[in-house]
Amino acid sequence: MADGDPEIVEHSFRLCQQLLRIDTTNPPGNEREAAELVAEELSSAGLEPVMLEGAPRRTNVVTRLRGTGEKPPLVLAAHLDVVEAEPSAWEHPPFCGEVHDGCLWGRGAIDMKNMAAMSVAIITRLAREGIKPKRDLIFAAVADEEAGCRLGSLWLSENHPDLIRGEFAIGEGGGFNIQVAGRTFFTVEVAEKGLCWMRARATGEPGHGSMPREDSAVVQLSESIARLGKEGLPRHASAPVKDFIGALASHLPAPLRPIIKLLASPTMGPAVLSLLPDPSIKRAFRALLGNTASPTVLRAGNKTNVIPGFAEAEIDGRILPGQTKEDLIRELQAVLGPRIELEVLHSLPPVVMEPKESSLYSTIHEVMAERAPGAPVVPFILQGFTDATAFTRLGARWYGFAPVRLPPTMRFRRHVSRTQRADPRRRSRLGHADTLGRGASLYRRLMVPVSTMQVGLAELYL
Ligand SMILES: [Zn+2]
Repeated sequence: MADGDPEIVEHSFRLCQQLLRIDTTNPPGNEREAAELVAEELSSAGLEPVMLEGAPRRTNVVTRLRGTGEKPPLVLAAHLDVVEAEPSAWEHPPFCGEVHDGCLWGRGAIDMKNMAAMSVAIITRLAREGIKPKRDLIFAAVADEEAGCRLGSLWLSENHPDLIRGEFAIGEGGGFNIQVAGRTFFTVEVAEKGLCWMRARATGEPGHGSMPREDSAVVQLSESIARLGKEGLPRHASAPVKDFIGALASHLPAPLRPIIKLLASPTMGPAVLSLLPDPSIKRAFRALLGNTASPTVLRAGNKTNVIPGFAEAEIDGRILPGQTKEDLIRELQAVLGPRIELEVLHSLPPVVMEPKESSLYSTIHEVMAERAPGAPVVPFILQGFTDATAFTRLGARWYGFAPVRLPPTMRFRRHVSRTQRADPRRRSRLGHADTLGRGASLYRRLMVPVSTMQVGLAELYL
């Protein structure tokens, strides 16, 4: 890989570092300071960013580089909030923004303050050079993605749709490299699972702790949750999963292909998965074989000697493309049993680009073939959710492509881990400095006209 444009690299790196030093842990988010920094950078290049808040201090920033209007706008999207980081689990403080061992450390370095910084570096450079692209280039730095997008992209899509409407939107969900059977692949997200966050509630007779009840709310809920942990939910075939795994298989040696393809099979997939040595890869593939439901919060009682009248669990449900919220609830109810009441707290439907092919999709492939020869780009389905729902609702085709190249020993999912326990040394070592630069360079090549950068793209996006 060639090095990126040094000015873009430097700008991206410096801004990412500054953003990492601003704690935007969600909740509470508090994105305003980060948004102000982004807005300042945009303004200094002559752009006119607007700051919009769905709630106090939950700031979104949107700006637009005007094009000739020959083509509809392209949106770059990045969220400014991050998930929590338990400092004691980090080798270097999670909001230090320091460089150690060639890596820029910090919560959000690859999810996704890197993308925010790269986008700012690119759009300000284009603005400073006075480039008038064929499309408007919109940049949206949004709040609240990690808690379900309600005060960020969803709020913008409902309250200021014209500001963020485009033909294409590029955000997170892909763009990182994965290793499968010894081969490196780059992902471009073309589908993602939906979510359905729920509260499960058991009720029972309250009483005194000295006289146990086998049907107490706590016992009922515990039994149901234990069953869920053991049995999980039914498996289903899904077209984007088949597509992703088929693409991986097509680039692997012929004898491996039929085995890899079985990973997409709801009946045979689990058997093949059991052969894999790495539990995190197993979990990642298993989550693509059906709807999932993880119990995450438990709540019941507040006195040791009182049997409470109710017990609650919050459950993080994820919906496979091809399935609905209702399907998931029905499956979950069947496992938990009829005595558990389910209440939906928040839901987003699955997102699927149909068809996934487009001129932008081809360009991503072409650019990557040049930038990372020998590492095929595969259409990826994300187990999690992103801001895709909001942008696709407004008609955009969303591609998850926030480019980052990780050393083969680092896994993207592990480094954006939302849990606090697994391997803290490795988890917190985020966002290789060099990687960041390459990502910025790739973006620029995706978007900048040939005449300016002398790069041979098959199609110009700006
Ligand atoms: Zn993210």
